Amino acid sequence: MSDPIDFDAFLRTDPRDVGCGEAMELLHVYAELHAAGPEAARSRYPGVAAHLRACGPCSTDFEGLLALISLPGPGVPPGDLTRPSAEGD
Ligand SMILES: [Zn+2]
Repeated sequence: MSDPIDFDAFLRTDPRDVGCGEAMELLHVYAELHAAGPEAARSRYPGVAAHLRACGPCSTDFEGLLALISLPGPGVPPGDLTRPSAEGD
């Protein structure tokens, strides 16, 4: 109880790390960028990338979001099934 600051964790923290609040705000944007191109996402939001490396809970949320983005949504029709089968022939 004499050590309120975890200096070891502090020293391991990337100085670019934006913290949980900002990472959460940008997480959906970052995940969409990452799905399109991980390099682009990291270069655009290096602070979020740094935070996700450092923060387990946020990186778990990010992975969940990324999985959702990668899946075809329920509103996306599987192509040919929506075509009319008879077109007047
Ligand atoms: Zn976090």
